[in-house]
Amino acid sequence: MTLSVKSKPYIIPEYSLTGDLLSYKACGLQYRYQNRGALPPSTPVQLWFGEFIHGVMEEAYKTWRKDPEVFHFPRQWKDAIRKIEMNVNLRLRAKGLLPPPRLFCPYDETMKTPGLCPDANHPHQLLASQRTEAAINTWGPHLFPLIDSAEVKLKGCRDMVGYQPGVHRAQTYSITGVVDVISAVSMDNAHEGNLILRYINTHPEIKGIIDDLSSRDYEVIIDYKGMRRPPVYLSPGVPNPTWEAHEWQVLTYAWLRSHQKDAYRPIVGILFYLNELVPSADDIGDLKKEAKDGLTDILPTSRVDKQALARWRKGSKENALSANLREQRSIRLIPLTEERQKRSLQSFDGVVLDIESSVAKEMKCGSIRGCWQPNPQEKTCTACDFKIYCPAVEGKYQMSIL
Ligand code: SF4
Ligand SMILES: [Zn+2]
Repeated sequence: MTLSVKSKPYIIPEYSLTGDLLSYKACGLQYRYQNRGALPPSTPVQLWFGEFIHGVMEEAYKTWRKDPEVFHFPRQWKDAIRKIEMNVNLRLRAKGLLPPPRLFCPYDETMKTPGLCPDANHPHQLLASQRTEAAINTWGPHLFPLIDSAEVKLKGCRDMVGYQPGVHRAQTYSITGVVDVISAVSMDNAHEGNLILRYINTHPEIKGIIDDLSSRDYEVIIDYKGMRRPPVYLSPGVPNPTWEAHEWQVLTYAWLRSHQKDAYRPIVGILFYLNELVPSADDIGDLKKEAKDGLTDILPTSRVDKQALARWRKGSKENALSANLREQRSIRLIPLTEERQKRSLQSFDGVVLDIESSVAKEMKCGSIRGCWQPNPQEKTCTACDFKIYCPAVEGKYQMSIL
């Protein structure tokens, strides 16, 4: 009797825009350790906060939609937002994502000891909660009435450009993502004074795209980022890959969305950098440096903001930036043109090919270190769990003994 040999399963590698593309761009070696090994990072602050703020905004939107008449802005944190936060925290906990201490208070009134908080007066409105309150109250009144479809799941397949038989695992790969979608109709019905509409209508390139359209059927796609606005340049003349990757992300989302059955043409992507609404002391320090070196696109223009930034010193507690500047820095509009989309998809294909080539190299030589490209940058390395044994920063960091 001959036994039939089971054919190898055909794998289509799946790439998520945030989880793979952006973290690989930050550092290939760290990406390998974090995402393709069994080792989760021990302090994934940005990962936790990114998922947390996304979850809170989605749940706040759903609560608003159930009964917009009774959902009044501004929402009070303790009475209305805290419940949402606790639900989202529970969901993240189930996925193994725990809130970093000092960023979020995970306790309610029944907890009689301080736990990881400064005292036992729970719940504390720590930084993460100050940001959820600011995000819901700054953008909710303008954004929620415009959203047509929340949490739209995007998925599509692309050819692996540069595929080599016997080297790479597959000829195609799939991309996934999730966005909220706004339609032109909901924008037509928006109240006068809607901030999102104002940003769209005063953006010359986007205005041009809308004016050139033959029909009013178009869409806007939305994504939230639990981070500060990245600088456009890392140093004078050196583009910041994170800034560029966010643009590709939105353009690729738009490409995926435009292939869905019920979709109209997306003409603008909006990213919300929600940490900007309540910047930490470090965030203001970074902004001061970026403004001085001309690295960021949204600069303080009013006298009050310029003075506040000039006065700001390391260790300063006050957050004196105006609401106007914080709001402007928290929104980024990306016009969606075919030309840009083509470039972003090519870049995405290129990153996937790099990752797949590293996978192929590792499968051949069996070691991680020589096969994945490190990208030592001070900020990423300081927060990296692998810095003690990373060859790219050898000897720079010591093991700390608690
Ligand atoms: S220490 Fe720096 S270069 Fe090394 S893996 Fe971590 S982020 Fe990458
Ligand atoms: Zn607490």
